[in-house]
Amino acid sequence: MPASNGTIVVIEDDPSIADLVDMYLRREGFRVIQTTSGEDGLEAIARERPRLVVVDVGLPEKMDGLEVCRSLRATSDVPVVILTARDNEVDRIIGLELGADDYVTKPFSPRELVARIKAILRRAEPTTRREATLLRVGEVEIDLARHEARVRGAPVALTAREFDLLTYLAENEGLVLSRRQLLDGVWGLDWVGDDRTVDVHVRQLRKKLGTELPLSTVWGVGYRLG
Ligand code: CA
Repeated sequence: MPASNGTIVVIEDDPSIADLVDMYLRREGFRVIQTTSGEDGLEAIARERPRLVVVDVGLPEKMDGLEVCRSLRATSDVPVVILTARDNEVDRIIGLELGADDYVTKPFSPRELVARIKAILRRAEPTTRREATLLRVGEVEIDLARHEARVRGAPVALTAREFDLLTYLAENEGLVLSRRQLLDGVWGLDWVGDDRTVDVHVRQLRKKLGTELPLSTVWGVGYRLG
């Protein structure tokens, strides 16, 4: 398959994980540059100007994945996905604060990582973003320009937060999103509150949009639209 989707730099010192990610990304038409340290990773990014960077937080030598994010954000807007150890709240929060676009916790499914990467690249494309002012999921239409949701053409009154939540779910169509990811993405990192906030808003969306909204609850994980 020709490498037509652009280059992704992967910074991961564990070869089994790096190779797996590499294989899945190549299959999707990306060209992959593997590096095993933060220093080599930054060098590769400067040289290759990739479309996206995947970086493990736990790296050997002096520069870990968070340092890579910090250093990268001083000069570049390239989208970054961090790989964090399971349940490491602190790495996740610091990583997102340092400008990472998303995170995946180990152990992760490569398919999920690829889906997240594609979602980020879709959001990151300025032209598509401007053109894509209408999102459609099932019978629900989300008009970003008019800030309006419609079911079969009929407008439905949503609060600003409900609208943002619906938009975020639609932009990540088909992906399972945890309550934490939804809080980070919709409410923001500095928002103080618990996961039930998400459930309350989801309940409102379901009530207002009814069965036309193809939103599933994934028990023990979160929600998926589409
Ligand atoms: Ca590692």
